[in-house]
Amino acid sequence: MKTREKRAGQRSAVLLHIVACKACSAEWQSDPAIRVACSECKAEAGQPCRWQRPHGYGFHMRRDLLAMREGHLSACDALTWDGRHSRHAIAVTAPVQLALI
Ligand SMILES: [Zn+2]
Ligand SMILES: [Zn+2]
Repeated sequence: MKTREKRAGQRSAVLLHIVACKACSAEWQSDPAIRVACSECKAEAGQPCRWQRPHGYGFHMRRDLLAMREGHLSACDALTWDGRHSRHAIAVTAPVQLALI
């Protein structure tokens, strides 16, 4: 199979997954809430929350509040109902130089 030509013609763009708030412009390399353990689902620090069914992205509210209390997570500047950032994972294009190293 000849895949070389195809690859050479491709623009190398690398997608990087970061976390951003939908309400304000805050962004994180990874979600700060993961630094604390979750009292809701007993996920340890560094582990994502365990949801009963596929839930998509997110952490339990109590975990967010604990992360905020411990100073890992700031309160959202935008007017959200509980002061938590409405975070979601997004893909951004990384600078191409990074991909070539
Ligand atoms: Zn949890
Ligand atoms: Zn926010």
